[in-house]
Amino acid sequence: MTASAAIENLLRKVRGCRACAAHLPLGPRPVVHMSATARLLIASQAPGTKVHETGISFNDASGDRLRAWLDMDRETFYDSSRIALLPVGLCYPGRLPAGGDAPPRPECAPLWRAAILAAMPNIKLTLLVGGHAQNLELGPGNVATRVRAFHDFLPRFFPLPHPSWRTTGWERRNPWFTTDVLPALRGCVRNVL
Ligand code: SF4
Repeated sequence: MTASAAIENLLRKVRGCRACAAHLPLGPRPVVHMSATARLLIASQAPGTKVHETGISFNDASGDRLRAWLDMDRETFYDSSRIALLPVGLCYPGRLPAGGDAPPRPECAPLWRAAILAAMPNIKLTLLVGGHAQNLELGPGNVATRVRAFHDFLPRFFPLPHPSWRTTGWERRNPWFTTDVLPALRGCVRNVL
């Protein structure tokens, strides 16, 4: 079986998954973009409602902010021959009673992540976008501390905050993110693509 046939086969299984359907308010719709040739992995947390509706990862204001951080147009961002997009939980998990999106479903990563990552042997750099993606790879820790110490995780990982609207104020209060982290991020991404 060719690598792309193996990925199609895997994606067919993923798209048929209903393991936590009872907990998903909008039902299962796994969203992942991948290929055997991808060199950059953008590891995020879980789809929001707009991503659920369209089936396109980061197809929302958070995606616009992430693309601005990367200084990257949509065409490049969605070129899955070079860039893979993989959340910790593949389906929209719903809302928390107190507001905000629920965390990724805990069933998902143990079921699918290892097989998905194994099908992408050319990944050179993984952007860990937000606390859930960071904690899964690095163990518990503080997002801002890790982002500021991004050098410590290279060349394999580059930790980032989640690019939600809440990050706008955080960016203003932490100017080092714009002056130090973003130029380094763009350089690292350019090097692997
Ligand atoms: S979130 Fe993951 S485990 Fe749950 S139904 Fe979707 S693909 Fe399956």
